[in-house]
Amino acid sequence: MVLSSHWVFNFGGGKADGNAKMRNLLGSKGANLAEMTNMGLPVPPGFTISTELCNSYFAMGHVYPASLRGEVDAAIERICTETGRRPGDPDKPLLLSIRSGARISMPGMMEAILNLGLNDETVKALARETGDARFAYDNYRRFIQKYSDVVLGIDQIAFEEIIEDYKDERGVLYDSALTAENWMEIIDAFKAMILDELDEDFPQEFDKQLWGAISTVFSSWMNARAITYRHLHDIPEDWGTSAIVQAMVFGNLNDQSAVAVAFTRSQETGEKKLEGCFLPNAHGEDIIDGECKPLPLTHSEGSDVKSMQELMPTLFSQFLAICEQLETHYKDMMKLGITIENGKLWLLQARAATRTPKAALRVAVDLAKEGLINEAEAVSRVDPRSLDQLLHPTISDSEKRIVFAKGMAASPGAASGHLVFSTRDAEEFVSHGRQVILMRIETSPEDVHGMHVARGIVTARGGMTSHAAVVARGMGIPCVTGASALQIDYQEESVTSGSVTLRKGDLITIDGSTGDVLNGDVQMQNPELSEEFATLMEWVDNIRRLKVRCNADTPQDAKAARDFGAEGIGLCRTEHMFFQDDRIFDIRAMIIATSEEDRRRSMDKLLPLQRADFEALFETMAGLPVTIRLLDPPLHEFLPNQPEDIAAMARALKMDEASLKSRIHAMHEFNPMLGHRGCRLAISKPEVVEMQARAIFEAAVAAGEKTGAPVQPEIMVPLVSIREELEFVKARIDSTAKAVMKEMGHEIDYMVGTMIELPRAALQARKIAESAEFFSFGTNDLTQTTYGISRDDAARFIADYIKAGVLEQDPFISIDIEGVGELIEIASERGRFARPDIKLGICGEHGGDPVSIEFCERVGLDYVSCSPYRVPIARLAAAQATLRRHQMIK
Ligand code: PEP
Ligand code: MG
Repeated sequence: MVLSSHWVFNFGGGKADGNAKMRNLLGSKGANLAEMTNMGLPVPPGFTISTELCNSYFAMGHVYPASLRGEVDAAIERICTETGRRPGDPDKPLLLSIRSGARISMPGMMEAILNLGLNDETVKALARETGDARFAYDNYRRFIQKYSDVVLGIDQIAFEEIIEDYKDERGVLYDSALTAENWMEIIDAFKAMILDELDEDFPQEFDKQLWGAISTVFSSWMNARAITYRHLHDIPEDWGTSAIVQAMVFGNLNDQSAVAVAFTRSQETGEKKLEGCFLPNAHGEDIIDGECKPLPLTHSEGSDVKSMQELMPTLFSQFLAICEQLETHYKDMMKLGITIENGKLWLLQARAATRTPKAALRVAVDLAKEGLINEAEAVSRVDPRSLDQLLHPTISDSEKRIVFAKGMAASPGAASGHLVFSTRDAEEFVSHGRQVILMRIETSPEDVHGMHVARGIVTARGGMTSHAAVVARGMGIPCVTGASALQIDYQEESVTSGSVTLRKGDLITIDGSTGDVLNGDVQMQNPELSEEFATLMEWVDNIRRLKVRCNADTPQDAKAARDFGAEGIGLCRTEHMFFQDDRIFDIRAMIIATSEEDRRRSMDKLLPLQRADFEALFETMAGLPVTIRLLDPPLHEFLPNQPEDIAAMARALKMDEASLKSRIHAMHEFNPMLGHRGCRLAISKPEVVEMQARAIFEAAVAAGEKTGAPVQPEIMVPLVSIREELEFVKARIDSTAKAVMKEMGHEIDYMVGTMIELPRAALQARKIAESAEFFSFGTNDLTQTTYGISRDDAARFIADYIKAGVLEQDPFISIDIEGVGELIEIASERGRFARPDIKLGICGEHGGDPVSIEFCERVGLDYVSCSPYRVPIARLAAAQATLRRHQMIK
């Protein structure tokens, strides 16, 4: 890695050392401050210490390189020149803010320290300069509190207690009623407490304050919250954080001062309208805390609530113009943080705004329509996994809502679950397979674990920009904030709203799109897909090379998948067609039959049922390819094991119970998933193949005649490892085809292929391809057999592997590119060698996973097949994979 020649990068005063492209070095905040400075926007001067310094700081055992001090001193000097202020100056002291700045925004990191540079002397200067002693001492005490908390390690609560005791003694209710003299006395109490705790005075020297803060920023990269956050979001440790030091501007100076947070489009829907809030004469943190009630930015007809537009019309117009300029420049929806100090607007932050999946989709499509980006760029802007949320249920319209409480609609979507009040309980419930809704008075970064496992989040406090709301939107889970009627009792583990009390474990539902908190669980309904969704999908389909099929066993699944854009069925698991009551006995009878005659008898009953099933599937998918897999039943899934089921089966088969029991016992397998399943069953019982092939061919003829779209069934043989297995089964299929064609007087075009789901099959792919017209990679079994890890037992210990860092991710969820992937590459290459036009697809669970889809694109498969709801995700992921392959996106 090449390190830059210096650690410190200046910005402000119309000139910056960096730009937006330098995110890796400056963190996103630092890079954007540099970019905005270069754009000529009003940014308070400052400097960024790079992420490389962070890495060096840890590599050198918390020691700074010798050159850093000189660079920082020079940068401070530069701020002094820009602002006309100096550290510790008795008239015009320099005051700074210090922030951390990771490459992507990380709520687990250190919050800002404001007003660094205040001490017992400079506070007097601030009081004189502003003519407002209360303002000065309030800022000083805030600085002491924050600095002591994050740098000196003294809990905030100790300070809050001092303030509360002070107010109680004087019968004062609100902080706002405290005078400058009150704050001076409180500050004395703070300082005494700090001396008592640390045996040291609160640092008065500018240098000591500054370096304490800088070290805390860098150390915060390794605090437990940040490590957890990185873990959850796959953020590499060596990214590091930057530290941003910037001149203070005051939004709480007077009535001509304010702070505001704005989004250039709606975070919820993506609609082009300014959203956000505005607080006159306030601190930036007041908005984030949700402590004061902010005002709107724009005026709404008929509302008597004052807005920024009315209160500061000139600044509002300047602000609007800046929003427009930033959107055009960044070609994205932006979030802006501004401070107005005595009538002058300063930009403190601007970055691409976080948004709901619905908004992300609309913004991408709208930006392309507005000509700011092209269609490929729009396609690359939507995270395929986020579509999950758009495709998932919301509360059914017809459902009666028993509203328990109401709050803000902070993150859309609906969810039901058991009520829990702590992260510990959330994790505990989830580990027992129960879904939870996490309810807190308010959340903090310590709650991130609990939020991550919860289905939804409710807080009694906070608003649209409070911690819970921001984090939930980022995670894409429903959230209701500020439900102030909720009286939460953590001790009792209960919550009361009006006359109703709910306790831990009770079922509740939240609707993050309306802000409703409902008692009990309710029925959900499927979402209606927006116009933008259809437009984006059209662009997606123009770009992608991979076809997307679905795994569907019923006409209903097939219909849903077709509506989502599936281009065929890649896997119909015929054993799933036997689970219904009316046929389970016949399939069981077939399995336990000891003679061919008995087997054929049960098969004769199954044939018409299978034929009808296939006919319906072919009709639903008219004109599209349908791959039907021959029976692949792990026998243990079909044979009864409970005494009452065995008795019922004995009655149905007119057998005595004891002999049925002993027959079942004789069929017991130690490893059923590696046992008598797949084509092995077909070889022992070829009549089954003949019945299924007959049902398929007869149905194909009937459906073709009905719909007018000829059906070309693709018959797939499972669990092949030896070419001769496939040939044996194929011979039965071919002879059945011949017989049916003769009987029906109808030509049938069909293909026979195989699953590649065993390592031997992958290695023998050249030989197998001589008999197979297509391969479909069964990556569930291929992962199981490549690792030798049982797919049904893996969940018990894979999490330990991930925790221990032995595996990065569960190979049953996202394909193991190194191992299983190599087998797929080998099989594809060898298969194509024998049969250049062989059709290649994948139908394991990985077929709907975006990272695995990218791998499929690289290997050049023809299609992926996945469950119906994942079809749009797979289409989008396939388009992004194509773009990446052609290096059109990163
Ligand atoms: C597979 O093994 O990947 C597959 C699709 O088949 P099944 O999951 O039915 O074993
Ligand atoms: Mg399989």
